Formats: sequence, C-alpha cells, structure tokens
Amino acid sequence: MPADVSASILAELTAVTGAAGITTGAAALEPHVTEWRGNYRGRTPVMVAPATTAEAAAIMRICHARQLGVVPQGGNTGLVGGAIPASTAEAPQIVLSARRLQAIRNLDADNYTITAEAGCLLADVQAAAAAADRFFPLSLAAEGSCQLGGNISTNAGGTNVLRYGNTRDLVLGLEVVLPDGRIYAGLRGLRKDNAGYDLKQLFIGAEGTLGFITAAICKLFPPPRSLSTAFVAIAEPAAAIALLSRARVALGDQLIAFELINRRAMDFVLDNLPEVRDPFAAAHPWYLLLELGSAGTGSAADEQLEAFLAEGLTTGQLIDGILAQSSAQRAGLWHLRHGISEAQKKAGAGIKHDISVPVSRIPEFLGAAGRVVAEQIPGVQVVAFGHLGDGNLHYNLNQPEAMDAGAFLALREPVSLAVHSIAVGLGGSFSAEHGVGVLKRADLARWRGGVELELMRTLKAALDPTGIMNPGKLLPDD
Ligand code: FAD
Ligand code: ZN
Repeated sequence: MPADVSASILAELTAVTGAAGITTGAAALEPHVTEWRGNYRGRTPVMVAPATTAEAAAIMRICHARQLGVVPQGGNTGLVGGAIPASTAEAPQIVLSARRLQAIRNLDADNYTITAEAGCLLADVQAAAAAADRFFPLSLAAEGSCQLGGNISTNAGGTNVLRYGNTRDLVLGLEVVLPDGRIYAGLRGLRKDNAGYDLKQLFIGAEGTLGFITAAICKLFPPPRSLSTAFVAIAEPAAAIALLSRARVALGDQLIAFELINRRAMDFVLDNLPEVRDPFAAAHPWYLLLELGSAGTGSAADEQLEAFLAEGLTTGQLIDGILAQSSAQRAGLWHLRHGISEAQKKAGAGIKHDISVPVSRIPEFLGAAGRVVAEQIPGVQVVAFGHLGDGNLHYNLNQPEAMDAGAFLALREPVSLAVHSIAVGLGGSFSAEHGVGVLKRADLARWRGGVELELMRTLKAALDPTGIMNPGKLLPDD
C-alpha cells in the first residue's frame, strides 16, 4: 500500500484508468522520481497514466476533490527538476504521466499542421511529419525520449530556433485539462485568430503549473530539399556576430542553425569522447557550426554555403572552414556539438548557466563574464557554447584542475549571481531554454520580482486556486 494516499483514493484512481494506468511500488516508480542526471530525487505514492483526455479530466477531478498534488510528467528529460514529485505524508503528490496519450490525431498536409497527443515522443512527431513530406522543426538531443507535452510545457528551443522559432512559435492550439478537471478545448489550426486573450500561450512554458496538456496542434513546414553543414574556426566572438549578420543577409531564412563552441569545449570533447576527431589540423579559439537548408535539390545548399564561406575566408572573417561531404560527416559534426555536455560531465564538477542576451551583446557578455569568473575562481575552466543565433549560451564552468570538487561547487551561488547579473544587465535572461523548475525559483524572485511576479501569481491563483498543480515548481514561495 503506498503510504501517502489512502486505499480508497487509489481505488478511485484505478477505477478511471484501469490497472494498466496505475504504477506503484518503489522499483517501478524509481525512474519517475529521479532526474536523469541524478540532481533531483523525490517521492510519490503512485503514477497515473490516463489513456484519453476524458480519463485525464476524471483523474484531475479526483485530485481536486481530494486536494492531491499533481506533478505532470513527460519523458522526464527536463533539466531543472520540474517533473520530479515531492510527496510527503501531509501533502501527497501523484505523478500524472502523459505516456499513454500517444496518438497522432490528424495531419492536415495542406494546412501544414499536425494534431498530436502530449505523450507522443518528439521523434515520433518528426517522423509522422516526414512521412507526409512535411517538416516539424523542433529538434534537440533528447528527442528520442522527450514528449511533445514536455516540450510545450518547457517551451523547448533546440538547434533550429533561428529559422523556425521556439516551441511557442510552433503551437497553434492546445487541449488542456485544468486543475479542477474542466477541459480547455483550444485545438484550432489557425494562423490568424484574434478573438480575445491568447489562452494557449499561458500553458506554453508553464512547466505543468497551470494544467495538464493532453494534445496540441502544431505548425509544419516544407522539408528542406538539401542541407549543408559547415564547421568553421574564428578568432573571437565578435567575428561570429559579424558572420551571423552577413549570413542572414546572404542566406536569408535558409540559415537554420548557428552554434558557437569555444576551444575549451572542443578540448573536453576531444579528451573525453574517443570517437570524436578535431576537424582541423590546428587548434583555434572559437568555432561555429552552421547549417543551411535549401528548397533547391542536389548541391544547392552546399553551393550557397560554400560561396558564403569562401567570402569569409577572403575577408579574414573566418580562419578556416570545412563543409560536410556526406551525411555521416554531418552527423559527426553535430555529434561534436551535442557531445559537449557529456564530455564536460566526464571532465569533473560543473556549474551551469543557461543565459540569453541580445545577439549583438554576446561578445560583451563573454568578455565581462570571463573576467568575473576568473577573478572569483582562479583557474576556472569556461565551457561556453550554444545557440549563438538565438543569443543563448550555455555558459558552463568546470572546476580548476587542482581544486577540490566540493570547494568548487560551494562557490555556485556567488558565481552564478555574478554571471546572471551580467546577463540581466545586458538586457538578458537568467533562464533562456531550460526553464525554472525547482532549480531557479529563487532567481525568478530576484530577477522577475515586482509587477511581473505579481502577475504570474495572479494567473496561478486564477487557474489553480487550490494550488494542486505541480506544487513547489516555478513560482517562489510567498
Ligand atoms: P519532462 O522532463 O517530463 O517535464 C518537463 C516539465 O514539463 C515539468 O515541469 C513537467 O511537470 C512539465 N510537463 C511535462 N509534460 C506535461 C504535460 N503533458 N502537461 C503539462 N506539463 C507537463 N531544451 C531546450 O530547450 N533546448 C535544447 O537544446 C535541449 N537539449 C536537451 C538535451 C538533452 C540531452 C536533454 C536531456 C534535455 C534537453 N533540453 C533542451 C531540455 C528539454 O527542454 C526537455 O528535456 C524537454 O523539452 C522536456 O520534455 P519531457 O517530455 O522530458 O518533459
Ligand atoms: Zn541548448
């Protein structure tokens, strides 16, 4: 018998979903109470997985009547602890899983939309679009295990934001079970709809604190007919900004990805991932990974990107560059980029930041942050990489080689405060991509206090007056 809920509540929940929707027992619940990196660990008496929206609504009505906390969970790949339950005997929390909501309900090829349930894996949504000769552009390293509902709830970004926008820009309509069990049925596939407040936006990026998303209707795009991927070496971040500005004029919206990588990140990858080779013979201070998608077939994309890079070499904007010659080479370049987090983990203790600033101010951020962290932690290893085209950097710090990991991690608070202060001072954000969850609640209070936080609390109180949706996440305590 799970300790935190009575047998009668468990029977009520089971009556809705049948035994197939109920998971209890420490071993079976283990993957659902632990964050995949091991940074968060919680507990729950039960995970409930409804198979339909009606079942989800019935579950929510029970939780509302019984004052049970509800922690929505998708693929549990989030990076800020948002999907981890924190049940106690006094305040029980169930996990509400979307994993059985897996239908692609509709694909309207001429409307360029797909209607998919929240538990669809991101990779499955991409595949369904591809099967209809359409393209769903949201792409991130966790796409084989994260779910559409989780992507929407975290407003996931990824590597194609430059061209296609964040998840927020890709969602046209939502179906959401509200905390009292009512259903907001907003699955409209419209590009134009000016009928009052845009309610779906409230739930996008809400990290499960306002309702349980059961389905979404998302935009699709024509698939690029040819792709071209380049890896280039540059001398300094300012060159990256100049190159990006020129690329946007020269290549228009065919430019899909524009990722920055510093040498330390490259060193970590080369040292820790044996399958990766340095694309260049010499070491360079900074690198860019560019990708172009063209409506032209064959070598159309390669020709355009090659011409663009050739001009950069002539003017000295870039030091060196290579164009992927095969899909295997392209995958290798992306593997280098996506391998940074894993390589960094192998290289010792890390303090991570996920900041954004206006694109034009990235060099200023890097300069100022570099000075401050070196002052606070002499010998600190800065691993700076990320989605330069979106003004979003993963500004991570690894322990100095000679320093004790514990002593290094003890400096997290002051050093993160300094890094966030610089980003916010440049008009940026302390949380660009990964959300607030548990990790950044105090930062939300610090950087978005006043009227902004008041409005957030007003929305929370209006939609979830009894506070059962994902308690203890996103909003700081009063
Ligand atoms: P979960 O982790 O299960 O949940 C995340 C949050 O959403 C929680 O607060 C949860 O309560 C809520 N939630 C989940 N499902 C629902 C639902 N149906 N209704 C309401 N609330 C819900 N993010 C980026 O933006 N860009 C990246 O490039 C990127 N790369 C990543 C790479 C890796 C290897 C990993 C592990 C993560 C990466 N992330 C990235 C983070 C990414 O945004 C999340 O992992 C993903 O979007 C969350 O989906 P999920 O299904 O795993 O959600
Ligand atoms: Zn990222």
